[in-house]
Amino acid sequence: GYDDNYLHENTYTETRLISEAFNKMLGRLKILDDSRQEFVANVSHELKTPITSMKVLADSLLAQENVPVELYQEFMQDLSEEIEREDKIINDLLSLVKMDKTAASLQVKQENINDLLEKILKRLQPIAAARNIEVVFESFRPVNAEVDGVKLSLAITNLVENAVKYNIDGGWVHVSLNADHKFFYIEVADSGIGIPEESKEHIFERFYRVDKSHSREIGGTGLGLAIARNAVVMHRGAIKVYSQLGEGTTFTVRIPLNYIA
Ligand code: ADP
Repeated sequence: GYDDNYLHENTYTETRLISEAFNKMLGRLKILDDSRQEFVANVSHELKTPITSMKVLADSLLAQENVPVELYQEFMQDLSEEIEREDKIINDLLSLVKMDKTAASLQVKQENINDLLEKILKRLQPIAAARNIEVVFESFRPVNAEVDGVKLSLAITNLVENAVKYNIDGGWVHVSLNADHKFFYIEVADSGIGIPEESKEHIFERFYRVDKSHSREIGGTGLGLAIARNAVVMHRGAIKVYSQLGEGTTFTVRIPLNYIA
């Protein structure tokens, strides 16, 4: 009868809708799963590289008889650097994982952002001075904001560290702080090597490095900007990059003065 047909039609439409939604969800899950698999593959690779070097170094030293002390010291120096590198990767990974886990539970409280920035710059001053890089802090107004001080510090530390790392000897780093009635703005500008146009959209990805061999020399893990972006996004903020190859780079961070849960 009429009712049966109606019921049939309706069930059919519903089944089709459910199956479409299901397929859509599967697609999303697959993307999530792919990126997770890629992440795990990347982590394994990054962690294994220093281990492989350490093993080669240790084995080749063991294979020699009567090793001259200079050679021994050279090997040990290399070994020590590889261990340091591994340590850095593990620390960055732990920061990143912690950041993901606590996404819902930022430890937000009222913080003096001027003090927070000054502390960061003071800590990084010796690294900059060693390469004759001038670090300048300019505050357009005192800023107090509801932030997770630890996570925000981690983000800004990574930006300033990069501004020094990817700079030229004798260059400059300019950090500024400003605010309006809704947001505060932190800018980290440098006179460094700059970022190629085609890399700009990738630099916030985990493990991405513009020039692997060069970055390796400088001691990067490719995680710093992923950590920085995570921290900023958790604050409902935004991070952007402007760069001119060979001239310098500017990162801008915009975060609400009052935390939006
Ligand atoms: P890394 O540990 O390699 O520094 P990041 O995630 O912090 O990793 O940065 C990713 C890549 O972006 C770096 O390897 C570098 O190539 C590029 N980059 C980041 N900051 C700057 C900068 N201020 N100037 C030039 N290049 C930069």
